[in-house]
Amino acid sequence: MSTPAESTYDKPQPVIDPGTKPFWDAARAHRLSIPRCRACGQHHFYPRELCPHCHSDQLDWTDVSGKGEIYSYTIARKPAGPVFAADVPYVIAMVTLDEGPRMLTNIVTPDVEQVRIGDRVTVRFEDVTPELTLPKFTLDKDPS
Ligand SMILES: [Zn+2]
Repeated sequence: MSTPAESTYDKPQPVIDPGTKPFWDAARAHRLSIPRCRACGQHHFYPRELCPHCHSDQLDWTDVSGKGEIYSYTIARKPAGPVFAADVPYVIAMVTLDEGPRMLTNIVTPDVEQVRIGDRVTVRFEDVTPELTLPKFTLDKDPS
């Protein structure tokens, strides 16, 4: 049995495994959560078995601010497939979170031409199916 939301979302979806499930569960609750090391106190992303800073396995999932800045970006003007045709132009960006790690994401803005490296951004959550929520970012300089 499929709901209307499931049948209308036809884009590729992440494979959620035990290592990434806490991230996706938090996103569904509209929280941005990433691993933090109890031994050295640093955050990292993507999720790993061992801290990339000190190799400790004492890791906790912790909510972060959802604030950061654009480290790099590109504007997609040709869709990466038919299901993205209605979305172009769209922004693919590496965002440096205020907690340190970088995250590959989309910047949602009414004007892709105004995006600049160093722009301050804030997470927002897009509920695409009942099971899947995607964290994306908006520009702090855009009117909310
Ligand atoms: Zn560590």
